[in-house]
Amino acid sequence: MSPPAYIGRFAPSPTGPLHFGSLLAALASYLDARAHHGQWLLRIDDLDKPREVAGASDAILRVLDAYGLHWDGPVTYQHQQQQHYDHALQQLLDQGHVYYCTCSRQDFPANPQQHACRQRRQPPAGAWSLRIKAPDETLLLDDAIQGRHSTNLATCHDDFVVYRKDGITAYQLATAVDESLAGITHVVRGSDLLDSTFRQQLLMRWLYGHSPLYAHIPVATHADGQKLSKQSFATALEPADWKLCLLAALRFLGQPQPADAGTPRTLLDEACQHWSLARIPRRPALPANDFCKP
Ligand code: GLU
Repeated sequence: MSPPAYIGRFAPSPTGPLHFGSLLAALASYLDARAHHGQWLLRIDDLDKPREVAGASDAILRVLDAYGLHWDGPVTYQHQQQQHYDHALQQLLDQGHVYYCTCSRQDFPANPQQHACRQRRQPPAGAWSLRIKAPDETLLLDDAIQGRHSTNLATCHDDFVVYRKDGITAYQLATAVDESLAGITHVVRGSDLLDSTFRQQLLMRWLYGHSPLYAHIPVATHADGQKLSKQSFATALEPADWKLCLLAALRFLGQPQPADAGTPRTLLDEACQHWSLARIPRRPALPANDFCKP
């Protein structure tokens, strides 16, 4: 049997409850997957234990469920995937794409090209991180919403970290591995992650030879232009507010309002029928402030 043509995902970090900004990514990825008759997987990005908030991942699951955003199969937890990350890190070391770096974030040179750590292929004494040797080449991203973007990581001096000094696998590496292991074909998420996409695509090319397609939705901001985030105390969504929040999220994404919002199911089914990526604005039309206050 051939694998499904579309496997999407939502990958929240349990650093706080679901807020309007994360609902946008959940809803857009869900509707895009369902509109393509695809699967929608849920992954909890819980590697960064110091930033994890107790109870947040269960709270996120409860709100998704109450909003009718039902995922396929079991939830993947990144903390259970460490063997796969270790394997990928070893592969990158063997390929010569990464090096052991002893610098702190402050010490790391603005231009790493001549950096002494760059030659290091064996673990030194003391604490170290693993960084990639940024290749001097143009990386292209053809985003379904944001259009064509390009970058050169070497010119940007972006020897980004794939394994942190505190012993935690970095987000870029874990995400690249997980997308590939799960067979993700389409990633729909916030445009604040567009720069990360270049890094993740590069890692996936080195490790697996292919990467998913991407669509980056506009990021919800406060009236002052600041991104809504758990850190900026965006309001936690309540299970009971599903109608208000889903309708507001559809408006934000430029989609029509469903006529039948009797239950989350009827609302989402109708939203799915009318779903169109082409209607999503590149930038937010309005600040998201107070969108979800009952
Ligand atoms: N877990 C990260 C977040 O919540 C990244 C998600 C992603 O790669 O889509 O911001």
